[in-house]
Amino acid sequence: MLECDVVVIGGGTGGYVCAIRASQLGLRTVLVESDKLGGECLNYGCIPSKSLITISKLYEKARGSEKFGLRFTGVSLDFEEMQRWKASVVGKLVVGVESLLKGNHVSILMGEASLVDRNRVSVTANSQKEEIVAKNIVIATGTRPIQLPGIEFDGSTVIGSREALELREAPGDLLIVGGGAIGLEFACMYQKLGSRVTIVELMDQLLPGGDPEVVRVVQRKLEERGAKVYLRSKVSSVTKNGRRAVVEVDSPQGKFSSEADKILQSVGRAPRVDNMNLKSLGVNTDQRGFIVTDRRMMTSVDCVYAVGDVRGPPLLAHKASKEGIVAAECIAGLPSAADWTVIPETIFTDPEIASAGLTADRAAQAGFQVKSVRFPFAALGRALAAGETEGFVKVVFRADTGLVLGVQIVGSEASNMISEVALALEMGATVEDMAQTIHPHPTFPEAIMEASESAAGRPIHQLRL
Ligand code: FAD
Repeated sequence: MLECDVVVIGGGTGGYVCAIRASQLGLRTVLVESDKLGGECLNYGCIPSKSLITISKLYEKARGSEKFGLRFTGVSLDFEEMQRWKASVVGKLVVGVESLLKGNHVSILMGEASLVDRNRVSVTANSQKEEIVAKNIVIATGTRPIQLPGIEFDGSTVIGSREALELREAPGDLLIVGGGAIGLEFACMYQKLGSRVTIVELMDQLLPGGDPEVVRVVQRKLEERGAKVYLRSKVSSVTKNGRRAVVEVDSPQGKFSSEADKILQSVGRAPRVDNMNLKSLGVNTDQRGFIVTDRRMMTSVDCVYAVGDVRGPPLLAHKASKEGIVAAECIAGLPSAADWTVIPETIFTDPEIASAGLTADRAAQAGFQVKSVRFPFAALGRALAAGETEGFVKVVFRADTGLVLGVQIVGSEASNMISEVALALEMGATVEDMAQTIHPHPTFPEAIMEASESAAGRPIHQLRL
C-alpha cells in the first residue's frame, strides 16, 4: 500500500500540471494514468491535430504559391511521412512530460484508478491491484466523445477525432456530423488534403454560440473550397455499404441522402467518471455529469478535488492546467483560487478564430450598453504582404466608459494574437489603453491597435463611419 499527500488521477494537461505543482510545493504526490501521459491534448487532440493542420496549410500554400512568383514542380503529399512527423512531435512532448514529472519527484503509476473512499484509490494494472492512501485526491480524468444512437463509432467508416488523426489517406468524401470546433478544424484540414467535405449541424449556425459575423467568414471559406454545409439538420440514419456509407439527412430543405467514405462524428464530449463512485462518495455533479467544484477546485467532498475537462466546458487544455495549479496550491494551503477574468479560446480553422471575453450579443445580454468596432485585415500592411487578408478584429466595449469587454478575431495568426487581449482584459483595459499601446510595424497584432483607435473615435487607417 502506497501512502501520499496527493494522488492525481489522470495524466492529461490538468493532471500532470497539478502533480508537478503539488510536488514542487513539498507534497508527496502520486500520478495515476491508465493510457498515456499527456492525456487527450498531447496524444489525441491539440498537438497531433495542429501538427497535421500545419502541414495541410503548407500543402495548400505550396500549391497556390504562383501568385507570389513561387513555382514548385511536383508538389505532392506523402501521408505516411506526414503521420510520422506528427507522431514524432507527440512522442517528444510525451517524453518531455515524463521527465518533468520524474524531475519533480512525482511517482507515476500506470493503471486504471477507481475511488474507494475519500482517502483511498485502487489502481489496477495487468490484473494486479494496488491501493493508495492519500490525504487528498484530484480527479483529472477528462472526457470521452459522445456517440449518437445509430451513428456509433465502428473504427473504420464512422470515426471519432482519434481515428481522424490516424488516417492513411484523405477520404474522398468526408461527412462531418457536428459543426463545432473539432469538426470544423478537421473540415478545413481534410479539405486542404483533398477531401470533399459535407458538414451537418443541428443548430442554426456553425460553432453555435460564437459571434455570427466571425463564423460567417469561416463558413464562406469552407464553401469557397467546395464544402456543403447543412444547418438545422441532422443525420437520421447511416447505412454501411462496403467501405462507404449512405447517410440520410433531415434538413429544412427536406430529406436527402449523401454518400461518404468516412463519417466523422464530433457532437460533444461527456465526463469520464466511471469507477469514480461519485454518487456513493457524495461528490456533486451537474445535469450532464460534470463534476461541480468551488473556486479552489474542491468538490462537495472535503479533500476531493477535480480539475480540467471533467469539470465541464470550456474544454480547453490551458484551462485544465491552470485549474491543476490552483488545486495543487490549495492543497498546499496557499490562498489560490480560480480568479481569472477570461479564458481565451482559439479554433484552428482556416482562417483561425480566437476570442477572449464577451461577444457583442453576450455583452448586451449581460446588460451592458455595448459598442463594437471592426478592423479588417484587408487594410493591414502585414496581412497584405502575407497574402492573408481575410477576416477582421472586432473590439467589443462599454459605450459609457470604453472598458473592453471582449475581442473576437477571425483571420491568419488569430491564435497568436489573442493573448494580448487576454492580458488587456485581466488588467481592465479600456479601448484607449489598447489604442495607446505601441505595436510594432508591420505585424498582425497591429489590427488590435487599429480597431481600438477606431473604438476610441480616432481611426487612422480606416475612415470614420
Ligand atoms: P485529458 O487530457 O482528457 O486527460 C485525462 C487523462 O485521464 C487521460 O490521459 C486518461 O487516460 C486518464 N484517465 C481517465 N480515467 C482514468 C482512470 N480511471 N485511471 C487513470 N487514468 C485515467 N484544447 C485546447 O486548448 N486547444 C486545442 O487546440 C485543442 N484541440 C483539441 C483537438 C481535439 C481533436 C480534441 C479531442 C481536443 C482538443 N482540445 C484542445 C481539448 C483538450 O485536449 C482538453 O481540453 C484537455 O486534454 C483536457 O485536459 P484534462 O487533463 O482535463 O483531460
